[in-house]
Amino acid sequence: MSQPILPGATLGILGSGQLGRMLAQSARRMGYRVHTLSPDVDSPTGQIADHAVVADYDDLAAIEAFASAVDVVTFEFENVAFAAADCAAQFAPVRPGGGVLHTTQNRLREKQALSAAGIPTVAYQAVSSRAELDAAVAEMGTPAVLKTAGFGYDGKGQVRIEAQTDLTQAWASIGDGPAVLEAFVEFAAECSVVGVRGADGAIADFGVIENRHQHHILDVSIADMPLEPDQRDAARSIARAILEQLDVVGVLCIEFFLTQQGELLVNELAPRPHNSGHLTIEACPSSQFDQQLRAVCGLPLGSTQRQAPVAMVNLLGDQWQGHTPNWAAALADANVNLHLYGKAEPRNGRKMGHITAFGADREDAARRALAARAALTNG
Ligand code: AMP
Repeated sequence: MSQPILPGATLGILGSGQLGRMLAQSARRMGYRVHTLSPDVDSPTGQIADHAVVADYDDLAAIEAFASAVDVVTFEFENVAFAAADCAAQFAPVRPGGGVLHTTQNRLREKQALSAAGIPTVAYQAVSSRAELDAAVAEMGTPAVLKTAGFGYDGKGQVRIEAQTDLTQAWASIGDGPAVLEAFVEFAAECSVVGVRGADGAIADFGVIENRHQHHILDVSIADMPLEPDQRDAARSIARAILEQLDVVGVLCIEFFLTQQGELLVNELAPRPHNSGHLTIEACPSSQFDQQLRAVCGLPLGSTQRQAPVAMVNLLGDQWQGHTPNWAAALADANVNLHLYGKAEPRNGRKMGHITAFGADREDAARRALAARAALTNG
């Protein structure tokens, strides 16, 4: 293992959204300097970083200058072009490595890697033309979900296929490109495991987090999902296997469907801190962002022990429509913490911040988080 990258060194973050912001907050707290690169001005990460480079991810001259000025590079979203990670790697260590990015930024490659490792996924077929879509729907049946192979998140680039769906329209709606047809899963619940692997191969995770979505976007996460012990063990072993299989150094989130039969199927991977792990900021001695920093800098991992029942709700731009959110009302409950990401424009569906709440038990924590969000529209 190479020498650790110690406090005082500079962390380079490709991407400049809220994940980079919260990573930068951890890094600055631990005495690191932070540089960020993205096409955006006054970004959530740029507001916290020591230095924000505004450049496109395919501007390899800018990537080269950026990577030359930092001690280690990581990314805060997986749609950074693979070429950018590859270019950066010539000037500084990139963690996790570009191979992880390459696999996880394409649904088909990701599913193939999971299947090859014997990890259960949703049934799927690769579809690369309109004719192949016909064949895949005929074979797999409906309902199904057609998803673009690349650059999709939060339900973007996907369409549900029913028996009566016009397949020509569906194919056009996802951009006529390489895609994956997935069986529609009538899941009992969704959950995730946020895992981390250090540069020395040590692995930790934050347990199984229950996730409830609205319109394909994460709405509520509650720590410590009540599962049978063997299901919990299975979710954590799958996380460990994926971290090892992909040789990840850093945080990786595995999103699962829990089927009505109690089976865990991997939906997708995110090779970075994840929205469902935000509650670890208050709830654990080392949050997912602290762990990401420790892992990419080659330091020992911290404790993921959850301190109390905890839940998180997202704040989307929708909360701002027609009124100014009543922050004081939301914070009337002393068990509630507010995070805002410094985004100027509260568009509908845009992640603007989140609320974390502690409670007597997990449902009480969720109730408090939801009540705090509801209170934003009071007065
Ligand atoms: P994704 O962007 O693939 O994570 O999809 C976002 C959300 O859409 C998931 O968290 C699910 O709530 C829903 N979804 C995606 N794929 C499927 C599927 N094959 N079956 C049922 N629901 C799905």
